Amino acid sequence: MSSTLVVAVDGPSGSGKSSTARGVATRLSLAYLDTGAMYRAVTWALLQRGTDLGDPDAIARDAADVQIVSGTDPGAPTITADGTDVSQAIREDDVTAHVSPVAAVPQVRTLLVELQRRVIASADQGIVVEGRDIGSTVAPDAAVKVYLVADAEARAARRAAERGGADQEATAASLAARDRIDSTRATSPLTRADGAVQIDGTHLSLEEVVDAVAALVEEARTA
Ligand code: C5P
Repeated sequence: MSSTLVVAVDGPSGSGKSSTARGVATRLSLAYLDTGAMYRAVTWALLQRGTDLGDPDAIARDAADVQIVSGTDPGAPTITADGTDVSQAIREDDVTAHVSPVAAVPQVRTLLVELQRRVIASADQGIVVEGRDIGSTVAPDAAVKVYLVADAEARAARRAAERGGADQEATAASLAARDRIDSTRATSPLTRADGAVQIDGTHLSLEEVVDAVAALVEEARTA
């Protein structure tokens, strides 16, 4: 894995990680992996099976059987769970409401981190990987580590707009709830990794954030 160029983009929900990571990958002709989509896909599959999501043992047991496949084209990212295309379904409120408790189960993380490392290792052209624990756990040797943040209000406004003008206050509450679980879980909590460059996108355009990350990649390539 050490020979693959890895750009880790971590940060809280709604900070603009997806748009940034896809923008950087597209501009620099790199692959792209959305690890949040993988946790969402497992959550979707468990909801389909009727797994008791209040029971970490049941989550761990049932998650072991779910087959997740992620496409890595930043222009058209894909994800399937047990062969079903779930790229739309994983954005539904039910999945969003349950994903953080599922992602807090250590066995789920072990499975998905292993899968993520396999995808990274096979990306010969280099890869931009977005998530919460990429720079800290999944790829601690990543050449570039970015921790992308934005004010809570800006994050809620962005997410509400993405969801067709959803209620901003409710969106803010949902983001805060997920951030709380993601930051306080015992295994690989959301944190700024050692060596990560923090970028505050609150007052920057998407292009400006992509410029900043692309400059870090160029710097790393010539170092
Ligand atoms: O990035 P997104 O908001 O789609 O991620 C959904 C959820 O997946 C997060 O709230 C978090 O609970 C979990 N996640 C994680 N580790 C990652 C990526 C996402 O725990 N690397």
